[in-house]
Amino acid sequence: MEIKRNPTRSVKVGNIYIGSAHPIAVQSMTATHTTDVDATVALVNDLHRAGAHVVRIAVDSDKDAAALAEIRRQTEANLSVDLQENYRLVEKVAPHVDKVRYNPGHLYHHERNRPWQDKVKYIAEVAAANDCALRVGVNCGSVDPAQKEKFDDKDSLGPMLASAFEHCELLESIGFTRFVVSLKDSDPTKVVEVNRRFAEARPDIPLHLGVTEAGLPPDEKSMEIEAGNQIIDDIRNGRLRSVVALDPSKLNIISCPSCSRVENEAFVELAQDVKEMTTYAKDYAITIAVMGCRVNGPGETDDADLGLWCGPSKVNLKKGEESLGAYPYDEILGVLRAELDKLIEKKRLESVAT
Ligand code: SF4
Repeated sequence: MEIKRNPTRSVKVGNIYIGSAHPIAVQSMTATHTTDVDATVALVNDLHRAGAHVVRIAVDSDKDAAALAEIRRQTEANLSVDLQENYRLVEKVAPHVDKVRYNPGHLYHHERNRPWQDKVKYIAEVAAANDCALRVGVNCGSVDPAQKEKFDDKDSLGPMLASAFEHCELLESIGFTRFVVSLKDSDPTKVVEVNRRFAEARPDIPLHLGVTEAGLPPDEKSMEIEAGNQIIDDIRNGRLRSVVALDPSKLNIISCPSCSRVENEAFVELAQDVKEMTTYAKDYAITIAVMGCRVNGPGETDDADLGLWCGPSKVNLKKGEESLGAYPYDEILGVLRAELDKLIEKKRLESVAT
């Protein structure tokens, strides 16, 4: 089956192109500490061999950036980096990578008095000078607060779209068109909806598709590449024609897939343990989110009934946006179970009352 695609522009990322009629590229990210150069190079090359067209590496500090330079020397993979709050890090990472992602919602944390437009212009100038593509990466857990204010609280997609559109327009106004856009949510149906709406308005811009909190971490990262290629193959061969519907009346466990920002390796086991421990609640409409780090954990657990995000020695527990405290790794399951029981009891009483 031929996949019908929009006539987008082509965006060069290292030795591949994204968009237009080019093969759909698959990207994954490292889960090692970036400063552990040997382990990171081994994983990058493993993902590259498994078919990853681009590999993302987390760089949050000058030490990570120095390690990145060495990693670049030891791999042929196309590399990408996510800028977090410190947008000025772009100057240190761009010489060593092929694509840089920035999050419009993170441009407010540093140099608050500098307009975001100036920051984007700076990022684009550095990217252009270093032959890098950009990704405008909009994420449901960290949407630009100025856009959020303009929309109703119940409309989560409106601010995401508005933020993406204004960044596209700004980049184009300064002559920078070598960029792709991503709009990620933890709810796959929202991901489809927001990307459809974006593609209708801007069929010329290539999309980077992804679900945030994409699932429990696999034992081996390269399995993500196999799964990505399998999805593309299924679509091409007509085996996947609609979005798999999640049953909203059942327990929904969402988890990030893990990456190098995980601060305690116990996160991977914890995510599995949460899934097993909570099976007794499978028939309740409850969402539990388990996230691996402080970068995305606090924001991306806000919409869950119960959220956990992992720090170096403690796990932070939340009920919606409310913090319930931080607990040692060997205590968190018990506390989570107690909170889950309370939630189930509340739902039971509500159903009796109606
Ligand atoms: S939540 Fe943190 S650890 Fe998990 S994938 Fe995202 S950045 Fe990595």
